[in-house]
Amino acid sequence: MIAGVISRISGPVVLSDQMRGSKMYDVVKVGVEELNGEIIRLDGDLAVVQVYEDTSGLKVGEKVVNTETPLSVELGPGLLSSIYDGIQRPLPVLVKRSGSFISRGISVPGIDKEKKWDFVASAKKGDTVSGGDIVGTVAEYNIEHRIMVPPPVSGTIKEIRSGAFTVEDPICILDDSTSITMLQKWPVRRGRPYKKKQDPRSLLITGQRIFDIMFPVAKGGTAMIPGGFGTGKTVAEQTLAKWSDTQIVVYIGCGERGNEMTDVLTEFPELVDPRTNMPLIQRTILIANTSNMPVAAREASIYTGITMAEYYRDMGYDVALMADSTSRWGEALREVSGRLEEMPGEEGYPAYLATRLAAFYERAGRVVCLGSDERLGSITIVGAVSPPGGDFSEPITQNTLRIAGTFWALDTNLAYRRHFPSVNWIKSYSLYLDSIQEWFVQSGFDEWKEMRDVTMYLLQKEVELQEIVQLVGPDALPESEKAILEVTRMIREDFLQQSAYHEIDSFCPLEKQYCMLKVILNFYNRTSEAMNRGVALNKILKLPLKQEIGRMKELADVSKIKDLIGEIDKNIAALEVER
Ligand code: ADP
Ligand code: MG
Repeated sequence: MIAGVISRISGPVVLSDQMRGSKMYDVVKVGVEELNGEIIRLDGDLAVVQVYEDTSGLKVGEKVVNTETPLSVELGPGLLSSIYDGIQRPLPVLVKRSGSFISRGISVPGIDKEKKWDFVASAKKGDTVSGGDIVGTVAEYNIEHRIMVPPPVSGTIKEIRSGAFTVEDPICILDDSTSITMLQKWPVRRGRPYKKKQDPRSLLITGQRIFDIMFPVAKGGTAMIPGGFGTGKTVAEQTLAKWSDTQIVVYIGCGERGNEMTDVLTEFPELVDPRTNMPLIQRTILIANTSNMPVAAREASIYTGITMAEYYRDMGYDVALMADSTSRWGEALREVSGRLEEMPGEEGYPAYLATRLAAFYERAGRVVCLGSDERLGSITIVGAVSPPGGDFSEPITQNTLRIAGTFWALDTNLAYRRHFPSVNWIKSYSLYLDSIQEWFVQSGFDEWKEMRDVTMYLLQKEVELQEIVQLVGPDALPESEKAILEVTRMIREDFLQQSAYHEIDSFCPLEKQYCMLKVILNFYNRTSEAMNRGVALNKILKLPLKQEIGRMKELADVSKIKDLIGEIDKNIAALEVER
């Protein structure tokens, strides 16, 4: 047993002597209270430990015991609908034991060891199996939880049985007597293996028009949401967690205010998935490490979350992971680095900030899973970034920009004007436009790319025209350009704006999104043509159609929106005849 003695304590960082033989990232128990910690630097006999719990009261001279295992999570049935802290301790259990989230020295298993699950074997005696092969399934709510051979294990099945078992009961025994259970452990800092990565090619449907149509993220891709205080990062992350069309969602509340996480914790259990009518919590894992909780556990929380995401990906599922906010994670990194007296890089962040960020986002992707059957799984990461003062030039935003495939830039001015989601359409971008175009076409949205291009062109044109208007007033513009401003107002107000709280509009099916934009662009085309033939713009603008377009978002019935296309044709044509 490796056991040392505390020689120095600095916030969440503890130095321990006599630790020779320890390995990097070994988990240790610190002090008489046995606080959980992890070795983050080794120097001869000296180990530097980051402690995941509040260190106040800890004294020099107390012992440090090395468990000689790396920081790991438990993976198996029972993860879904769980609410954990940054090191996979179930929060409801912590609260019950100590009355608050900030309990110390408590070790609680991440997964219930008593509960029995109905295991249905699919492999049989004599089968040769290796890492990633599925030996059977368990119903975890609506999800078929696929029990996989853990990555390094392989052999021929000597015995396998169906029935009610706990996660630690052997369900399958190999000829070398290795027993397989429904429980796996995996070190969080190491990505779980897969066969190979593939380019993401399909859309992550979020039900949000500014995302799906304008700045899409692909399943298996990465997106970032930077924005100043109050611009809507948390609302966006929560909206995505509710509506994204993945089988599994991992939501990491990282260093944000406790009350925001409380909202998630109280609201989520009541939400119902519009696609399956099942409670959304049943496909979700929540990880909460709020600003009042220890800083080092915040650093660990994103690894805990991504490892769980990988586990479900390995079963062949699409997983979405939200992290709110990666800035708070970066700040935790900075605080620990400062205590280690490392050479500070830009704005005090450690020099390895960029590599750590990249390594995290690198764990997203669409992969061919390990195992002999062909299955694909994906993890999409959406990270919120909270730059101080909303200034995007700071290190976390800049380093994430180099990595993320989709950039949803939240805008303080838009938020101030109550234009939500406050995604700035000029600054935002998506690198997936080309790779998912085929998906749109195959899904029956043939004109998506053209429509999006025209919309972007009009919105960019609007910026130009508004500058002119500011200089010389609106009357100086020719009628055709006034028409553009009318249409871009429609695009902004009747299409891009979408309330996260509206009963119907909070989730907009892709077909409805497509039709809504089609209506507005049809209005633009018919208007331009009619004006070319001499119809006055103000006559068109007096048509009651304009109000109907404004009410599209509230319609649940897409056919009514489709009908508008024909109505626009008819009504504008009638004006031409009138002339
Ligand atoms: P941040 O996390 O960036 O500090 P929040 O996500 O908490 O900001 O959003 C602040 C407020 O903005 C919310 O309380 C809400 O009133 C409003 N808001 C943000 N996004 C939307 C949206 N899509 N629809 C309606 N209101 C929104
Ligand atoms: Mg927030």
